[in-house]
Amino acid sequence: SKGSTFTHSELAEIDKKHYLHPTTPPKAHYLSGPPTIFSEGRGVYLKDLQGKERIDGVSMLWNVNLGYGNEELAEAAKQQMLKLSYSSSFSGQSNEPAILLAQKVASMAPRDLNVCFFTSGGSESNDTAFKLARFYWKVKGKPERTKIISLDQSFHGVTVGATSATGIEGFQKFTTSNAPNFLKAAAHAVEAELGDKTDPNYTRSIRGTIEAEGADTIAAVIIEPIQGAGGVRFPPKGYIEAVRKLCDEHGILMIADEVICGFGRTGKMFGVDHWNVVPDFLCVAKGISSGYAHLGAVIMREHVREAFVQSDEMMFHGFTYSGHPVACAVGLKTIEMIDRDNIVENSRMRGEELLRGLQYLEKNHKHVTKVRGLGLLAGIELFRDPESGIPFAPSEHAAAQYTDICMELGLQLRYFDWKGTNTVALAPPLIITSEQVEEIISRMDKALKRFEEQI
Ligand code: PLP
Repeated sequence: SKGSTFTHSELAEIDKKHYLHPTTPPKAHYLSGPPTIFSEGRGVYLKDLQGKERIDGVSMLWNVNLGYGNEELAEAAKQQMLKLSYSSSFSGQSNEPAILLAQKVASMAPRDLNVCFFTSGGSESNDTAFKLARFYWKVKGKPERTKIISLDQSFHGVTVGATSATGIEGFQKFTTSNAPNFLKAAAHAVEAELGDKTDPNYTRSIRGTIEAEGADTIAAVIIEPIQGAGGVRFPPKGYIEAVRKLCDEHGILMIADEVICGFGRTGKMFGVDHWNVVPDFLCVAKGISSGYAHLGAVIMREHVREAFVQSDEMMFHGFTYSGHPVACAVGLKTIEMIDRDNIVENSRMRGEELLRGLQYLEKNHKHVTKVRGLGLLAGIELFRDPESGIPFAPSEHAAAQYTDICMELGLQLRYFDWKGTNTVALAPPLIITSEQVEEIISRMDKALKRFEEQI
C-alpha cells in the first residue's frame, strides 16, 4: 500500500465540512456514515483508506473500462503534458492528438459517422448534440424544428439540456429548471413505433408525440441503445430499428446516447452495432478515455458536418477543453489498446460468462429475477416473490441493502430503485478475466445468502 499522509477519519471530517457530493441524499449530514475514501486501484481491484479491498463490479460509474493503474495510459498523459499541455481548438487552431483521435474514432464508428466534436463528458456531449441538431435545422431553413423527444426513465446527464432530456423524474424535476421544447415519450413502445394505433402507449409513444406535435417542429429524438441509470433496461426486439425508421419517415435527426454503451461495453464497439442502425449523432464519453481523462465526443454523420461547414452562420459553440490535447492523447491510447488487446471480444466472452453466473444465482436464490445482460452490461432485479410478481416494499430498500452487503464482502455494485424497482447493475472493467468474473458471482452468491437472512 502506498498509504496516505492522512488517516481515514481525518479526511472524513474534512470531507464532511468542505465537500458537497453529487447526488447528496436527504439529511445526509445526519444519516450517512463516513464516506468510503478510495486510495488505490489496480486492474479491477480498488482499495480504500480503511484498508478494504474490493472488486469493482461496475467500473465505478460505468467508465473505468480498462481498469485502474494502467501504465500506458499514464505515460500517454505524461508525455503529452510535457510536449504540449494545452491548446485551443477554436476556429483555425488544432492539435495532433485531437486530429488523430477524430480520425481513429471515425474509423471505428459505423458507416459515415466520420466527424467528431470533442467535449469533456457525457452531459456536454448530449447538450452539444441538441444544440447542433437545432443549428442543423436552422441552417437547412427550418428553424421551427426545435423540439427534442427523449424517453421515460432515460438518463442523459445533468447540464440544463441533458437534465431536460432526462426521463428519470428526480433529476428532471430538480429545481424545475427545465429548458423549453423537451418532450418525454413512453420508453420501448415498439408496437406503437411500428404504427400500431391500438397499442395503449400509442399517444405517449415517439410516433404519437410526433403526430400530436407536428413532425416539422421536431429537431431530434434521443435514445440510449440500452438504458443505464434507468435500471439497465434493454429495448424490445426491433425497437432501435423502428426508431431509426420513424425518424427517417419524418426527416427527424436521431441521436444515440452511447455514453455507457460506446467503446465495447456491450460486446460490440457501439451499442447500435447490435442492430445495424446508424444514428445521425452518436454521443460518447466514459469509455473513450476509460476514466483517465475528462473526455467526450459527439460523432456525427457527414451530411450533418456538411451543413455546418457550408453555412453562412457562425456556429457559436465550443468549450475551453474541446479537443484538450492531453485528454485526446489518453483517448487515442485507450482506443489503441481496445483494438490491440481485443477488448471488445473480451467484453463479449466474459459477458456471456457473467450472464451464465447471474442465471445460476437466479436459479439458486429465491429473490433474484429478470436477469439480463449484453457484453459486460448486466442487471438483475430483487423481488419479494418473483413468481407471483410481488416486489419488496420501498421501505425495505432491498437493492440498497443487498449492494451494502456486497460492499462488505468486497464487491462494488450499484443499485437503482426508481418507481419501486430494485435493480442491481453490473458493468465490470472490460479487461476482466474469467476467474474474476467467477469471483464476482461467488461474492454475489455469499451476499445473497446473507441478504436472505436479514430481509
Ligand atoms: N448519458 C448517459 C447514458 C450516462 O449514463 C451518463 C452518465 O452516467 C451521461 C449521459 C452523463 O455523462 P457525464 O456524467 O459524463 O456528464
